[in-house]
Amino acid sequence: MRNLNEIISQLTLDEKASLCSGFDFWHTQAIERLGIPSIMMSDGPHGLRKQGGNTEDMLFHNIVPATCFPSAAGLACSWDRKLLEKVGIALGEESQAEGVSILLGPGANIKRSPLCGRNFEYFSEDPYLSSEMAGSHIKGVQSQGVGTSLKHFAVNNQEHRRMSVDAVVDERTLREIYLASFESAVKQSQPWTVMCSYNKVNGEYASQNKRLLTDILKEEWGFEGFVVSDWGAVDERDAGVTAGLDLEMPTSSGVGAKRIVDAVKAGRLAEEDLNRAVKRLLTIIFKAVENKKRNASFDKEIHHQIAREVARESMVLLKNKDAILPLKKEGTIAVIGAFAKNPRYQGGGSSHVNPTKIDETFAEIGKAAGGLAQILYAEGYNTESDDIDVKLIEEAKNAAAKSDVAVIFAGLPDRYESEGYDRSHIRIPENHKKLIEEVSEVQKNIVVVLSNGSPIEMPWLDKVKGVLEGYLGGQAVGGAIADLLFGAANPCGKLAETFPAKLAHNPSHLNFPGEGDRVEYREGIFIGYRYYDAKDIEPLFPFGFGLSYTNFEYKGITVDKKELSDQDTVKVSVTIKNTGTVFGKEIVQLYVKDVESSVIRPEKELKGFDKVGLEPGEEKTVTFELGKRAFAYYNVDLKDWTVESGAFDILVGKSSKDIQLKETVIVKSTTVLKKVFTRNSNVGDLMCDAESKTVFEQMMKKLNEQGGSVFSLGETPEIAMSVMKYLPLRDLVVFSNGAFSVEMLEEMLQKLNQ
Ligand code: BGC
Repeated sequence: MRNLNEIISQLTLDEKASLCSGFDFWHTQAIERLGIPSIMMSDGPHGLRKQGGNTEDMLFHNIVPATCFPSAAGLACSWDRKLLEKVGIALGEESQAEGVSILLGPGANIKRSPLCGRNFEYFSEDPYLSSEMAGSHIKGVQSQGVGTSLKHFAVNNQEHRRMSVDAVVDERTLREIYLASFESAVKQSQPWTVMCSYNKVNGEYASQNKRLLTDILKEEWGFEGFVVSDWGAVDERDAGVTAGLDLEMPTSSGVGAKRIVDAVKAGRLAEEDLNRAVKRLLTIIFKAVENKKRNASFDKEIHHQIAREVARESMVLLKNKDAILPLKKEGTIAVIGAFAKNPRYQGGGSSHVNPTKIDETFAEIGKAAGGLAQILYAEGYNTESDDIDVKLIEEAKNAAAKSDVAVIFAGLPDRYESEGYDRSHIRIPENHKKLIEEVSEVQKNIVVVLSNGSPIEMPWLDKVKGVLEGYLGGQAVGGAIADLLFGAANPCGKLAETFPAKLAHNPSHLNFPGEGDRVEYREGIFIGYRYYDAKDIEPLFPFGFGLSYTNFEYKGITVDKKELSDQDTVKVSVTIKNTGTVFGKEIVQLYVKDVESSVIRPEKELKGFDKVGLEPGEEKTVTFELGKRAFAYYNVDLKDWTVESGAFDILVGKSSKDIQLKETVIVKSTTVLKKVFTRNSNVGDLMCDAESKTVFEQMMKKLNEQGGSVFSLGETPEIAMSVMKYLPLRDLVVFSNGAFSVEMLEEMLQKLNQ
């Protein structure tokens, strides 16, 4: 065992400060005289992006080939923890083979608006799903002795002014939505590092936000690793150390270190805080070195096959009218759209991978059809522009008219979405839209296959029979699409985000991306399906939605107890049966609804999910375990998660809009809420609680016995009570003409607060 305190005591102040900034763009600083090595970090999250050379001017060049897996937006649609772990393991193996110690991902930022340019790198609009996916990814990578960097902590939900914007979020929303997306991933999977975001959160840069980095992340959640800045996110380095930012990346060429040294000398920064940062850094650096595997390698072909399997498990069948899919291997099939030959399979920015190879979708379709069907191709549109090329459209129509079915590849070109900027609308390019419309005039059997990192609107939906959402499917996207189109595999993904019918329906619409350097999250906890549910707005496709080539029946919901305390857990079981004719996988979703609540709560919230594979006719029982957090809300007064006693519906279904089974349990809270009554409390506040109600009724009785009464403000006792509910206690004196005396008021308050 290395004695870190001993090493730290031997480091000079300059050395300690130098450790807290990068050596270059990707490496930590080494201190050779004390045997402290340097380790390398590289981007992820869905593929290793290791820069080959050493010089910074090669930043965007010379990227070592690696497997490009589907990006997070697609991965999350698998709702498959084991699959995410498998991707993580493959990423860990590739990192080991390349000598990379920390893979910079996954990203657990919530999809607040479909416009965020980086949504393709994030999992979901729901914090539970997002955190489960992130946690599984981390587990997989770290099982290989490679660290992760859970990013971008926190509230980085837009690219617009991402390095200066102040995200203003109320405490409950922060806890229930934006932090919750990181919380269980941190607690359950202990990423080696967490990357702080560029933006400010409630007035303070994340990189020097003590509340986020130390109070919540390290102390409350028990995060054991180190916090690294996003690249260039540091404002004042010494303030960062105090707040809990352990490592600044990339190198600031000595500026950060000097600032730390000066601050310690001037007494502005406590040396213990610096030592604490150094200790966290050394813990992970030595751990990384100990976990390095010599001569590690990986099989590119096997990883390509994993990428294909993962893409297949992540795509979502959104429409399948007249069971147009799977396609029959016969007749003539027109494959239309430049994406079929030049697939869009990953997003732009720091996650851009140099793939080991790329499947061409058109070729894969040909292979899958095995010469049994004639396959035609038409380019359909130019990927470099949105202009409508009449000649390309005519060619596409000719091919479609000669065929039994047309498969159109459409979606968002690279330039539409990327790290660094947001979209301004959710339309696909005009030439893609026009192509679908024109082809629909000559061919009724159309399947649209989409490549996009984020939701789009579909004004053409009624003109086509099938829609397969492929997201950004990674380098094996072509093979995966072919597998699904011809039924070699059955689609089994479901949406991890709502597709709104139009952008204006999105809850953040009026406050995205904010004014100047300030964005207020005024929709609060009502984001994604929480909002569409509450406002009763019909989305284009709801959260959790996805079709299959088979059907599933849900039956027999049971709970192992009907009543429980918030310290207990309840087990919920349901049976799922495959009632169709082919093997399929179903994603079973469990939502919890607080039937009656004194605080504003969403209609329902996702608290459990499982994916189950079933042969035709087979059935399996799925069991969920729900604990306190499944019923709780974040109580800002108590600064803790609180359950309100009462009934909770447990809703199990196929999507957020398709609930199949329901049970109700009564949960008793163990939180003692001490209410303090004052002369300004309302009469109604007393009536909510049996004890205070009794005190009030006794006082009213006493008043009546003395011949007094409070003016009746209604024609019936019910109306009178409804009005009186909002009467401050002090006005009992006024509205009884003094019969309810000041002394009686004081006596009542004393009894109430006993
Ligand atoms: C991105 C991070 C990335 C880092 C290093 C930043 O611009 O926001 O996600 O890990 O660069 O490339």
